[in-house]
Amino acid sequence: MSTAINPSTPAPSQRLLGKVAVVTGGASGIGESIVRLFHTHGAKVCIADVQDDLGQKLCDSLGGDPANIYFIHCDVAVETDVSDAVHSTVGKFGTLDIMVNNAGISGAPCPDIRNVDMSEFDKVFNINVKGVFHGMKHAAHFLIPKKSGSIISLASVATTLGGLGPHAYTGSKHAVWGITKNVAAELGNYGIRVNCVSPYCVATGLALAHLPEDERTEDAMAGFRSFVGKNANLQGVELTADDVANAVLFLASDDAKYISGENLMVDGGFTRSNHSLR
Ligand code: NAD
Repeated sequence: MSTAINPSTPAPSQRLLGKVAVVTGGASGIGESIVRLFHTHGAKVCIADVQDDLGQKLCDSLGGDPANIYFIHCDVAVETDVSDAVHSTVGKFGTLDIMVNNAGISGAPCPDIRNVDMSEFDKVFNINVKGVFHGMKHAAHFLIPKKSGSIISLASVATTLGGLGPHAYTGSKHAVWGITKNVAAELGNYGIRVNCVSPYCVATGLALAHLPEDERTEDAMAGFRSFVGKNANLQGVELTADDVANAVLFLASDDAKYISGENLMVDGGFTRSNHSLR
């Protein structure tokens, strides 16, 4: 069998040419990197986020051409918001190919279980679990009839380990991974791939929220990472939001056409190593 590269394969810079994507939480952090990368690779992108100013600013910085990119206010915890984001994307761009459920929060740190505020717990689950499920559910409405598509959700190294964040955060990320497997099993019947991407610490607003307010700098994050990871992370290699976005791009693209039901760790081997967390 020939292993020659098909000459019709798009150039590496256009791996999502003609594809339409919704990215929740796309206004900042890892989501912003995903939006920028998808845009660079030729996708039409809907940025769905609660931060209207940042979302619109990102649109403008990418040219602001409504034929290629637009922002919609969307709180993923509200099912109708997610449904509206998906419907309006299909209305504007004609179809949907890729759903990225990236929006997530860490919740307030609370190391003492006796003091956990259950309304805070619910908030984390409503955004991190139901928000992701809303994305899967409403994307499925459009992807099932066309019998193709890729759904990618941002999970975390906390899908497999405890002790890395608030209780609700860890529980929510285990749930994202569990739901991913279920939905992959169901939507595989329609040729739709469903995966998650699990990063280690990246210096975004979410990760920095674990540090005291006056210590939220890149240097502090480096210290935070080496504390959490001890020697388990790749030495001398910095993890950035763009590295995570590249993993999402891979799963979104046809390069990953037979990969489904996976949890792609972007953690430098952290969860596979034998280092004690404490
Ligand atoms: P971030 O806080 O920097 O950005 C999150 C984005 O989501 C923001 O633009 C925010 O406005 C948006 N958002 C928050 N709540 C929303 C809601 N209800 N509806 C719509 N949008 C909402 O966070 P991040 O670090 O970029 O995290 C992105 C994803 O990656 C999250 O799911 C997070 O759990 C996961 N993750 C992050 C890290 C990390 O170290 N940064 C590690 C593992 C997993």
